[in-house]
Amino acid sequence: MKVHEYQAKEIFASHGLPVPKGEVATTVDEAVAIAEKIGGPVMVKAQVHVGGRGKAGGVKYAEDIEAVRKHASAILGMDIKGLTVEKVLITEAMDIDEEYYVGLLMDRASKSPMFIVSAAGGIDIEEVARTTPEKIHTLVIDPRYGAQAFQARRLAYGVSSDPAVVKGMTKALLTLYRIYVESDASLVEINPFIKAKDGSVWAVDAKLNIDDNALYRQPKIEAMRDLSEEDPSEVEAKEAGLSFVKLEGNVGCLVNGAGLAMATMDLVKYFGGQPANFLDIGGSSNPDKVVTAMKIILRDENVKAILFNIFGGITRCDDVAAGLIKAVEMLDVPVPIVARLTGTNEEEAREMLKGTKLHPAATMDEAVQLALELAGEGK
Ligand code: GDP
Ligand code: MN
Repeated sequence: MKVHEYQAKEIFASHGLPVPKGEVATTVDEAVAIAEKIGGPVMVKAQVHVGGRGKAGGVKYAEDIEAVRKHASAILGMDIKGLTVEKVLITEAMDIDEEYYVGLLMDRASKSPMFIVSAAGGIDIEEVARTTPEKIHTLVIDPRYGAQAFQARRLAYGVSSDPAVVKGMTKALLTLYRIYVESDASLVEINPFIKAKDGSVWAVDAKLNIDDNALYRQPKIEAMRDLSEEDPSEVEAKEAGLSFVKLEGNVGCLVNGAGLAMATMDLVKYFGGQPANFLDIGGSSNPDKVVTAMKIILRDENVKAILFNIFGGITRCDDVAAGLIKAVEMLDVPVPIVARLTGTNEEEAREMLKGTKLHPAATMDEAVQLALELAGEGK
Protein backbone atom coordinates (compact mmCIF):
# COMPACT_ATOMS: atom_id res chain seq x y z
CA MET A 1 0.00 0.00 0.00
CA LYS A 2 1.15 3.50 -0.82
CA VAL A 3 0.43 6.67 1.12
CA HIS A 4 0.48 10.21 -0.22
CA GLU A 5 3.46 12.51 0.15
CA TYR A 6 1.63 14.68 2.72
CA GLN A 7 0.85 11.58 4.81
CA ALA A 8 4.40 10.24 4.59
CA LYS A 9 5.64 13.69 5.61
CA GLU A 10 3.37 13.66 8.68
CA ILE A 11 4.91 10.35 9.70
CA PHE A 12 8.45 11.51 8.91
CA ALA A 13 7.92 14.74 10.88
CA SER A 14 6.52 12.85 13.86
CA HIS A 15 9.84 10.97 13.98
CA GLY A 16 11.76 14.23 14.01
CA LEU A 17 12.76 14.60 10.37
CA PRO A 18 12.88 18.17 9.05
CA VAL A 19 9.85 18.63 6.80
CA PRO A 20 8.82 22.00 5.33
CA LYS A 21 5.54 23.42 6.68
CA GLY A 22 2.53 22.43 4.62
CA GLU A 23 -1.08 21.31 4.45
CA VAL A 24 -3.26 19.49 1.99
CA ALA A 25 -6.14 21.11 0.07
CA THR A 26 -8.96 19.76 -2.07
CA THR A 27 -10.11 23.12 -3.47
CA VAL A 28 -8.44 26.21 -4.86
CA ASP A 29 -9.80 28.36 -2.01
CA GLU A 30 -8.38 25.99 0.57
CA ALA A 31 -5.05 26.05 -1.26
CA VAL A 32 -5.03 29.86 -1.15
CA ALA A 33 -5.94 29.92 2.56
CA ILE A 34 -3.07 27.55 3.36
CA ALA A 35 -0.62 29.59 1.28
CA GLU A 36 -1.71 32.77 3.10
CA LYS A 37 -1.15 31.06 6.42
CA ILE A 38 2.33 29.86 5.40
CA GLY A 39 3.24 33.25 3.89
CA GLY A 40 5.85 33.68 1.15
CA PRO A 41 6.44 31.47 -1.87
CA VAL A 42 4.99 27.94 -1.78
CA MET A 43 5.04 24.78 -3.85
CA VAL A 44 1.73 23.42 -5.18
CA LYS A 45 2.11 19.64 -5.36
CA ALA A 46 -0.26 17.06 -6.83
CA GLN A 47 -0.98 14.22 -4.40
CA VAL A 48 -1.20 11.08 -6.52
CA HIS A 49 0.35 7.66 -6.09
CA VAL A 50 2.84 7.92 -8.95
CA GLY A 51 6.39 9.08 -9.26
CA GLY A 52 7.56 11.78 -11.62
CA ARG A 53 4.87 14.30 -10.73
CA GLY A 54 7.32 17.12 -11.30
CA LYS A 55 8.00 16.11 -14.90
CA ALA A 56 4.27 15.65 -15.51
CA GLY A 57 3.56 19.25 -14.45
CA GLY A 58 2.16 18.32 -11.06
CA VAL A 59 4.71 20.24 -8.96
CA LYS A 60 4.76 24.04 -9.35
CA TYR A 61 6.45 26.94 -7.66
CA ALA A 62 4.10 29.77 -6.67
CA GLU A 63 5.70 33.14 -5.95
CA ASP A 64 2.47 34.77 -4.75
CA ILE A 65 -1.21 34.08 -4.06
CA GLU A 66 -2.19 34.70 -7.67
CA ALA A 67 0.21 31.97 -8.75
CA VAL A 68 -1.14 29.63 -6.06
CA ARG A 69 -4.63 30.15 -7.46
CA LYS A 70 -3.44 29.54 -11.00
CA HIS A 71 -1.41 26.40 -10.25
CA ALA A 72 -3.95 24.90 -7.85
CA SER A 73 -6.71 25.28 -10.48
CA ALA A 74 -4.51 23.68 -13.11
CA ILE A 75 -3.30 20.80 -10.94
CA LEU A 76 -6.57 19.89 -9.16
CA GLY A 77 -8.39 17.65 -11.62
CA MET A 78 -5.27 17.07 -13.70
CA ASP A 79 -4.65 13.56 -14.99
CA ILE A 80 -1.21 12.19 -14.11
CA LYS A 81 -0.43 8.76 -15.54
CA GLY A 82 -4.10 7.77 -15.43
CA LEU A 83 -4.83 9.12 -11.94
CA THR A 84 -6.93 12.20 -11.30
CA VAL A 85 -5.48 14.71 -8.85
CA GLU A 86 -7.97 15.28 -6.04
CA LYS A 87 -5.64 16.86 -3.50
CA VAL A 88 -2.73 19.28 -3.58
CA LEU A 89 -0.11 19.80 -0.93
CA ILE A 90 0.66 23.46 -0.34
CA THR A 91 4.09 23.63 1.21
CA GLU A 92 6.70 26.22 1.98
CA ALA A 93 9.04 26.60 -1.02
CA MET A 94 12.66 25.89 -0.17
CA ASP A 95 15.62 27.68 -1.65
CA ILE A 96 17.40 24.59 -2.93
CA ASP A 97 21.17 24.44 -3.22
CA GLU A 98 21.78 20.69 -3.49
CA GLU A 99 19.49 17.70 -4.08
CA TYR A 100 20.31 14.25 -2.67
CA TYR A 101 18.58 10.91 -2.85
CA VAL A 102 18.09 8.96 0.40
CA GLY A 103 16.11 5.74 0.58
CA LEU A 104 15.72 2.34 2.19
CA LEU A 105 14.04 -0.65 0.64
CA MET A 106 13.72 -4.40 0.85
CA ASP A 107 16.52 -5.83 -1.29
CA ARG A 108 15.39 -9.16 -2.66
CA ALA A 109 18.89 -10.36 -3.52
CA SER A 110 20.21 -10.05 0.04
CA LYS A 111 16.79 -10.54 1.62
CA SER A 112 17.61 -7.55 3.81
CA PRO A 113 16.87 -3.87 4.05
CA MET A 114 19.22 -1.82 1.90
CA PHE A 115 20.07 1.87 2.06
CA ILE A 116 20.45 3.77 -1.19
CA VAL A 117 21.99 7.24 -1.28
CA SER A 118 23.17 9.50 -4.04
CA ALA A 119 24.46 13.03 -4.49
CA ALA A 120 22.54 13.10 -7.77
CA GLY A 121 19.04 13.24 -6.27
CA GLY A 122 16.00 14.89 -7.78
CA ILE A 123 13.75 14.10 -10.68
CA ASP A 124 16.29 12.19 -12.77
CA ILE A 125 17.37 9.57 -10.25
CA GLU A 126 16.15 6.67 -12.46
CA GLU A 127 18.27 8.03 -15.31
CA VAL A 128 21.27 8.35 -12.96
CA ALA A 129 20.83 4.73 -11.86
CA ARG A 130 20.75 3.61 -15.49
CA THR A 131 23.55 5.66 -16.98
CA THR A 132 25.91 6.37 -14.07
CA PRO A 133 25.30 3.65 -11.49
CA GLU A 134 28.59 4.56 -9.78
CA LYS A 135 26.83 7.68 -8.46
CA ILE A 136 24.50 5.45 -6.42
CA HIS A 137 25.78 4.07 -3.12
CA THR A 138 24.10 1.15 -1.41
CA LEU A 139 24.52 -0.63 1.88
CA VAL A 140 22.77 -3.81 2.97
CA ILE A 141 21.79 -3.81 6.65
CA ASP A 142 21.80 -6.93 8.77
CA PRO A 143 18.31 -6.87 10.30
CA ARG A 144 19.57 -8.68 13.40
CA TYR A 145 21.55 -5.61 14.44
CA GLY A 146 19.70 -2.87 12.60
CA ALA A 147 21.24 0.27 11.10
CA GLN A 148 24.23 1.53 13.07
CA ALA A 149 25.24 5.17 13.33
CA PHE A 150 28.69 4.53 11.85
CA GLN A 151 27.12 2.92 8.78
CA ALA A 152 24.79 5.86 8.24
CA ARG A 153 27.66 8.33 8.73
CA ARG A 154 29.90 6.49 6.29
CA LEU A 155 27.14 6.53 3.65
CA ALA A 156 26.56 10.25 4.19
CA TYR A 157 30.29 10.98 3.89
CA GLY A 158 30.24 9.08 0.62
CA VAL A 159 28.03 11.73 -0.96
CA SER A 160 29.05 14.93 0.83
CA SER A 161 31.80 16.46 2.90
CA ASP A 162 29.59 19.29 4.15
CA PRO A 163 29.22 18.77 7.93
CA ALA A 164 25.59 19.98 7.97
CA VAL A 165 24.63 17.58 5.17
CA VAL A 166 26.50 14.65 6.73
CA LYS A 167 24.92 15.29 10.12
CA GLY A 168 21.41 15.74 8.68
CA MET A 169 21.67 12.77 6.34
CA THR A 170 23.05 10.48 9.04
CA LYS A 171 20.08 11.31 11.21
CA ALA A 172 17.70 10.93 8.27
CA LEU A 173 19.07 7.47 7.42
CA LEU A 174 18.77 6.20 10.99
CA THR A 175 15.28 7.67 11.28
CA LEU A 176 14.21 6.13 7.97
CA TYR A 177 15.40 2.77 9.25
CA ARG A 178 13.27 3.16 12.38
CA ILE A 179 10.22 4.20 10.34
CA TYR A 180 10.79 1.30 7.95
CA VAL A 181 10.83 -1.25 10.75
CA GLU A 182 8.05 0.28 12.85
CA SER A 183 5.64 0.72 9.97
CA ASP A 184 6.36 -2.57 8.15
CA ALA A 185 7.44 -0.63 5.09
CA SER A 186 8.82 -2.06 1.87
CA LEU A 187 10.20 1.34 0.83
CA VAL A 188 10.93 4.67 2.50
CA GLU A 189 12.41 7.43 0.41
CA ILE A 190 13.32 11.10 0.48
CA ASN A 191 13.99 12.42 -3.01
CA PRO A 192 15.14 15.08 -2.94
CA PHE A 193 16.73 15.40 0.48
CA ILE A 194 17.96 18.95 0.10
CA LYS A 195 20.47 21.40 1.38
CA ALA A 196 18.94 24.86 1.31
CA LYS A 197 20.91 28.00 0.45
CA ASP A 198 21.04 28.82 4.19
CA GLY A 199 22.77 25.48 4.85
CA SER A 200 19.83 23.71 6.50
CA VAL A 201 18.65 20.29 5.29
CA TRP A 202 15.08 19.22 4.51
CA ALA A 203 12.95 16.34 3.29
CA VAL A 204 11.30 18.01 0.31
CA ASP A 205 9.57 14.87 -0.97
CA ALA A 206 8.53 11.73 0.93
CA LYS A 207 7.53 8.27 -0.08
CA LEU A 208 6.38 5.38 2.10
CA ASN A 209 5.15 2.01 0.81
CA ILE A 210 3.79 -0.51 3.29
CA ASP A 211 3.80 -4.28 2.99
CA ASP A 212 0.10 -5.14 2.44
CA ASN A 213 0.46 -8.31 4.45
CA ALA A 214 1.33 -6.29 7.56
CA LEU A 215 -1.53 -3.80 7.32
CA TYR A 216 -3.52 -5.71 9.92
CA ARG A 217 -1.07 -4.45 12.54
CA GLN A 218 -0.73 -0.94 11.11
CA PRO A 219 -4.21 0.47 11.73
CA LYS A 220 -3.03 4.10 11.67
CA ILE A 221 -1.44 3.66 8.28
CA GLU A 222 -4.28 1.57 6.93
CA ALA A 223 -6.61 4.47 7.81
CA MET A 224 -4.57 6.58 5.37
CA ARG A 225 -5.51 4.33 2.49
CA ASP A 226 -6.86 6.24 -0.52
CA LEU A 227 -8.90 3.76 -2.55
CA SER A 228 -9.43 6.27 -5.36
CA GLU A 229 -5.73 5.78 -6.15
CA GLU A 230 -5.92 2.03 -6.54
CA ASP A 231 -7.06 -0.19 -9.40
CA PRO A 232 -10.84 -0.64 -8.77
CA SER A 233 -10.70 -4.31 -9.73
CA GLU A 234 -7.90 -4.99 -7.28
CA VAL A 235 -9.81 -3.16 -4.52
CA GLU A 236 -12.99 -5.14 -5.22
CA ALA A 237 -11.02 -8.37 -5.30
CA LYS A 238 -9.40 -7.64 -1.97
CA GLU A 239 -12.77 -6.89 -0.36
CA ALA A 240 -14.06 -10.23 -1.65
CA GLY A 241 -11.02 -12.02 -0.21
CA LEU A 242 -9.45 -12.70 -3.61
CA SER A 243 -5.84 -12.10 -4.57
CA PHE A 244 -5.94 -10.45 -7.96
CA VAL A 245 -3.31 -8.82 -10.11
CA LYS A 246 -4.21 -7.51 -13.52
CA LEU A 247 -1.88 -8.38 -16.39
CA GLU A 248 -1.81 -7.63 -20.10
CA GLY A 249 -2.73 -10.93 -21.78
CA ASN A 250 -6.03 -12.39 -23.02
CA VAL A 251 -6.51 -15.62 -21.06
CA GLY A 252 -8.39 -14.93 -17.85
CA CYS A 253 -7.20 -17.29 -15.11
CA LEU A 254 -9.27 -18.30 -12.11
CA VAL A 255 -7.37 -20.61 -9.82
CA ASN A 256 -7.35 -21.68 -6.19
CA GLY A 257 -4.05 -21.36 -4.39
CA ALA A 258 -1.23 -18.97 -5.20
CA GLY A 259 1.15 -21.76 -6.21
CA LEU A 260 -1.31 -23.34 -8.61
CA ALA A 261 -2.17 -19.88 -9.97
CA MET A 262 1.50 -19.27 -10.76
CA ALA A 263 1.93 -22.74 -12.26
CA THR A 264 -1.12 -22.09 -14.43
CA MET A 265 0.29 -18.79 -15.65
CA ASP A 266 3.62 -20.48 -16.38
CA LEU A 267 1.83 -23.08 -18.45
CA VAL A 268 -0.15 -20.45 -20.37
CA LYS A 269 3.18 -18.84 -21.24
CA TYR A 270 4.79 -22.20 -21.99
CA PHE A 271 2.15 -22.92 -24.61
CA GLY A 272 2.66 -19.49 -26.18
CA GLY A 273 -0.16 -17.51 -24.57
CA GLN A 274 -0.39 -14.55 -22.21
CA PRO A 275 -2.38 -14.58 -18.96
CA ALA A 276 -4.76 -11.65 -18.44
CA ASN A 277 -4.41 -11.83 -14.68
CA PHE A 278 -3.29 -13.62 -11.60
CA LEU A 279 -6.28 -14.63 -9.52
CA ASP A 280 -6.30 -16.80 -6.46
CA ILE A 281 -9.81 -17.46 -5.14
CA GLY A 282 -8.32 -18.84 -1.94
CA GLY A 283 -9.13 -21.88 0.09
CA SER A 284 -12.80 -21.48 0.99
CA SER A 285 -15.66 -22.93 -1.04
CA ASN A 286 -17.97 -20.00 -1.49
CA PRO A 287 -19.87 -19.71 -4.80
CA ASP A 288 -20.20 -15.93 -4.38
CA LYS A 289 -16.43 -15.63 -4.61
CA VAL A 290 -16.48 -17.34 -7.99
CA VAL A 291 -19.14 -14.93 -9.21
CA THR A 292 -17.16 -11.90 -8.03
CA ALA A 293 -14.00 -13.32 -9.58
CA MET A 294 -15.77 -13.85 -12.93
CA LYS A 295 -17.14 -10.31 -12.87
CA ILE A 296 -13.69 -8.89 -12.25
CA ILE A 297 -12.09 -10.95 -15.00
CA LEU A 298 -14.83 -10.13 -17.52
CA ARG A 299 -14.44 -6.39 -16.96
CA ASP A 300 -11.16 -6.69 -18.86
CA GLU A 301 -11.99 -6.36 -22.55
CA ASN A 302 -8.80 -8.16 -23.57
CA VAL A 303 -10.05 -11.43 -22.13
CA LYS A 304 -10.91 -13.88 -24.92
CA ALA A 305 -11.22 -17.06 -22.88
CA ILE A 306 -11.39 -18.00 -19.21
CA LEU A 307 -9.44 -20.82 -17.71
CA PHE A 308 -10.62 -22.38 -14.47
CA ASN A 309 -8.05 -24.48 -12.73
CA ILE A 310 -9.25 -25.78 -9.40
CA PHE A 311 -7.64 -28.30 -7.17
CA GLY A 312 -10.30 -29.40 -4.72
CA GLY A 313 -8.89 -29.91 -1.27
CA ILE A 314 -10.69 -27.77 1.26
CA THR A 315 -12.31 -26.03 -1.69
CA ARG A 316 -14.77 -28.63 -2.92
CA CYS A 317 -15.10 -29.00 -6.69
CA ASP A 318 -18.89 -29.27 -6.52
CA ASP A 319 -19.07 -25.92 -4.72
CA VAL A 320 -16.86 -24.34 -7.34
CA ALA A 321 -18.98 -25.90 -10.08
CA ALA A 322 -22.09 -24.45 -8.41
CA GLY A 323 -20.45 -21.03 -8.39
CA LEU A 324 -19.42 -21.41 -12.00
CA ILE A 325 -22.90 -22.35 -13.13
CA LYS A 326 -24.39 -19.51 -11.11
CA ALA A 327 -21.86 -17.05 -12.53
CA VAL A 328 -22.43 -18.14 -16.11
CA GLU A 329 -26.20 -17.81 -15.64
CA MET A 330 -25.96 -14.42 -13.97
CA LEU A 331 -23.34 -12.83 -16.15
CA ASP A 332 -24.12 -14.02 -19.66
CA VAL A 333 -20.42 -14.76 -20.17
CA PRO A 334 -19.42 -13.71 -23.70
CA VAL A 335 -16.23 -15.81 -23.88
CA PRO A 336 -15.60 -19.55 -23.75
CA ILE A 337 -14.76 -21.07 -20.37
CA VAL A 338 -12.51 -24.06 -19.87
CA ALA A 339 -12.92 -25.81 -16.54
CA ARG A 340 -10.47 -28.20 -15.01
CA LEU A 341 -11.72 -29.33 -11.63
CA THR A 342 -9.82 -32.02 -9.85
CA GLY A 343 -9.76 -33.36 -6.29
CA THR A 344 -12.49 -33.50 -3.66
CA ASN A 345 -15.91 -34.22 -5.21
CA GLU A 346 -14.67 -33.93 -8.79
CA GLU A 347 -17.14 -36.54 -10.07
CA GLU A 348 -20.06 -34.57 -8.64
CA ALA A 349 -18.63 -31.42 -10.20
CA ARG A 350 -18.26 -33.03 -13.61
CA GLU A 351 -21.82 -34.30 -13.37
CA MET A 352 -23.06 -30.79 -12.59
CA LEU A 353 -21.22 -29.26 -15.53
CA LYS A 354 -22.70 -31.70 -18.06
CA GLY A 355 -25.01 -29.98 -20.50
CA THR A 356 -23.64 -26.50 -19.71
CA LYS A 357 -21.60 -24.53 -22.22
CA LEU A 358 -18.41 -24.98 -20.19
CA HIS A 359 -15.56 -26.90 -21.77
CA PRO A 360 -14.29 -29.57 -19.40
CA ALA A 361 -10.63 -30.59 -19.36
CA ALA A 362 -8.98 -33.37 -17.42
CA THR A 363 -5.36 -32.23 -17.13
CA MET A 364 -3.65 -28.87 -16.82
CA ASP A 365 -1.90 -29.25 -20.18
CA GLU A 366 -5.16 -30.03 -21.88
CA ALA A 367 -7.00 -27.19 -20.13
CA VAL A 368 -4.39 -24.59 -21.00
CA GLN A 369 -4.09 -25.66 -24.63
CA LEU A 370 -7.85 -25.70 -25.04
CA ALA A 371 -8.16 -22.22 -23.49
CA LEU A 372 -5.49 -20.87 -25.84
CA GLU A 373 -7.20 -22.44 -28.83
CA LEU A 374 -10.55 -20.93 -27.83
CA ALA A 375 -8.88 -17.55 -27.29
CA GLY A 376 -7.63 -17.74 -30.86
CA GLU A 377 -4.05 -18.34 -29.80
CA GLY A 378 -3.84 -22.05 -30.47
CA LYS A 379 -1.15 -23.53 -32.69
P1 GDP B 1 8.31 14.18 -7.88
O1 GDP B 1 8.59 14.73 -9.23
O2 GDP B 1 7.02 13.45 -7.86
O3 GDP B 1 9.43 13.35 -7.34
O4 GDP B 1 8.11 15.45 -6.89
P2 GDP B 1 9.16 16.22 -5.94
O5 GDP B 1 8.46 16.62 -4.72
O6 GDP B 1 10.40 15.44 -5.75
O7 GDP B 1 9.47 17.52 -6.76
C1 GDP B 1 10.14 17.47 -8.00
C2 GDP B 1 11.21 18.52 -8.09
O8 GDP B 1 10.66 19.80 -7.88
C3 GDP B 1 12.30 18.39 -7.05
O9 GDP B 1 13.32 17.48 -7.42
C4 GDP B 1 12.81 19.81 -6.96
O10 GDP B 1 13.77 20.03 -7.97
C5 GDP B 1 11.59 20.64 -7.26
N1 GDP B 1 11.07 21.14 -5.98
C6 GDP B 1 10.23 20.50 -5.12
N2 GDP B 1 10.02 21.24 -4.02
C7 GDP B 1 10.75 22.37 -4.17
C8 GDP B 1 10.96 23.53 -3.36
O11 GDP B 1 10.43 23.70 -2.26
N3 GDP B 1 11.78 24.50 -3.88
C9 GDP B 1 12.37 24.37 -5.08
N4 GDP B 1 13.18 25.35 -5.51
N5 GDP B 1 12.20 23.28 -5.88
C10 GDP B 1 11.41 22.30 -5.43
MN1 MN C 1 10.59 13.30 -5.71
